[in-house]
Parts: sequence; structure tokens; C-alpha cells
Amino acid sequence: MPDTKPTRVLLAAPRGYCAGVDRAVIAVEKALELHGAPIYVRKEIVHNKYVVETLSERGAIFVNETDEVPEGARVVFSAHGVSPAVREGAAARNLLTIDATCPLVTKVHKEAVRFAKSQQTILLIGHEGHEEVEGTAGEAPEHTIVVNSPEEADTIEVADPDNVVWLSQTTLSVDETMETVRRLRDRFPNLQDPPSDDICYATQNRQVAVKKLAPECELVIVVGSANSSNSVRLVEVALQSGADASYRIDRASEMDEAWLEGVTTVGVTSGASVPEILVRDLLDRLAGLGYATVEEVTTATEDLMFSLPREIRADMKARAAS
Ligand code: SF4
Repeated sequence: MPDTKPTRVLLAAPRGYCAGVDRAVIAVEKALELHGAPIYVRKEIVHNKYVVETLSERGAIFVNETDEVPEGARVVFSAHGVSPAVREGAAARNLLTIDATCPLVTKVHKEAVRFAKSQQTILLIGHEGHEEVEGTAGEAPEHTIVVNSPEEADTIEVADPDNVVWLSQTTLSVDETMETVRRLRDRFPNLQDPPSDDICYATQNRQVAVKKLAPECELVIVVGSANSSNSVRLVEVALQSGADASYRIDRASEMDEAWLEGVTTVGVTSGASVPEILVRDLLDRLAGLGYATVEEVTTATEDLMFSLPREIRADMKARAAS
């Protein structure tokens, strides 16, 4: 606990839900409303434990692969996107699919298809094994090489060094990705850039907000799950930007009071898959420990919204007409 020094919380804005997550969660909720339980969801709809638990209680069943879904049942594809092979697998089992892939992930898939058609090698900067990377690489597996880190950029080999383009996962550290690109370009001077940023607006905005507040904080707490790429990146960005310490927690109860020893300013933010209620719980807990003053640090305002998946819109229309 702090002594008599004034204490405060700097609260990052933007934080929490992005447009793609909001859309995906609503898609599952609407599917449950329209069709009743169970609704199957391939993988975690978004990478957040609380969201998955809450939807499970309402009747969503999360599976790893479509072959776990009963023939002919309804399945939602998560915000991270799926490869064509997954779509084919679902079609073979006559599943009724609802595609909640974030439109900003779909954009990267389309780029991958286009570059593969023109026989370019795609250097996909991202984390091997992450669902989004599997989905994007699955669009053009013969043409894609995943680059996991700046260090890997120094060693990968390509067939034609003059015919390479880079793409990226949407939820990476902007700075680290640019470092990877710089190292790739050192080796492949004709490396082509993607037509627009692949790291999405939400990932970028949350990193910018943390960069702004971190230098003033002895501690930055990021609310988000361990498998949430953009949440994990926020911890790294906080540390690189001057916070003395930074930790990720799934929920307020995971905060260790020892972290607050000698701390006067605590930064708080949350990943793009985190509902605001979890941040409010943390602020309540911090207030109870003497950190009742909350100052919001706003670096951008967001008003982007995506329309719901077309399958849900069609079902809503049909329901309204009946
Ligand atoms: S983090 Fe970005 S890419 Fe991922 S769901 Fe949100 S808006 Fe879409």
C-alpha cells in the first residue's frame, strides 16, 4: 500500500473492445437468440476467458475443430478467421456456418490470395500457431512463409528474393513489426509493402495510448487473457515505453497487492477482446487500495462499427418477416 504520497490511476483510452470483437460476440449472442442453444463456435470466439465463459453459460459450445460439431449443426467461425480448408471441412459436414471473421482479417486474407495469384512469396509476419496466422497462411500455403520475429528475418530463405511481399498478423507490436520489415528489407531490397497497414487500427491505438501513459507509471496493469496477442503486446509496449513494471491479468482478483509497493501512479489498459466490466472491477479494487483518483489519457477516439455477419442479418430479416 502507498504511504501518504498522492496516488492515481492513468486509464488508457482507447482500450478494450474493438469493432471486430464487438461484432463477433454479438454474432454469437444473436445466433443463440435466433436459434436457441446449442450454438457451436470453432475456437474461442475472441481471446478472452470471461467472454468465453459467459457465452458458454448461455449455451455456446466451443470446439477446436469442425469435426467435433454434429453434422448439420450451426457453427460460428471466430473473429480470427479460418483457412479455406476449414470452410471445406464444414461444408463436407453440412454445417450451417456463421462467419464472424473480423473484416480487417478478411482484408489480409484477400491480399494473401492476390499476391499468391501473382506468384509472389508472402512473408507473413506473425506468430506461428496463432489462429489468425493459420487462417491467413491457409489461403496460400504454397506461397507463404511465417516470420515469427526480427531474428527470424535474418535467416529465412526464399526462392526468388526479388519477388517477395510482406503481410502481418493484425495484432502485433507496431515497432517490432517495423524492425522485422527493416531486417527483411536489408536482405530483400525489392520487398514489396502491403497496400495498407495490416496491424489494425485497434491494436495501434491501444499501443499508442499505453506509450503515452507508461513513462509516468511505476506500474502498468493490462487486463486481457494470456492467449490474447494484442493484450500481451501491451505489456511489452508498456515496459519498452518506460513503465517500471507491467503485468497482464485476466481479472481484478489476480492483481497482487505487492505490485503496488511504493507505486504512486498505476496505468491501466485492456486488450481489444476485453469487456469494460473487467476494467471497472480492477478500478474498484484499486480504489479500495487507495488509488481512487482516475485520470483518462486519451490518444484517439474510435467510432468504427462493422455490420453483423451476413448470415445473422439474413436470419434476423427472416425472423422479422415471419
Ligand atoms: S483486434 Fe483488430 S483485427 Fe482483431 S478483431 Fe479487433 S479490429 Fe479486428
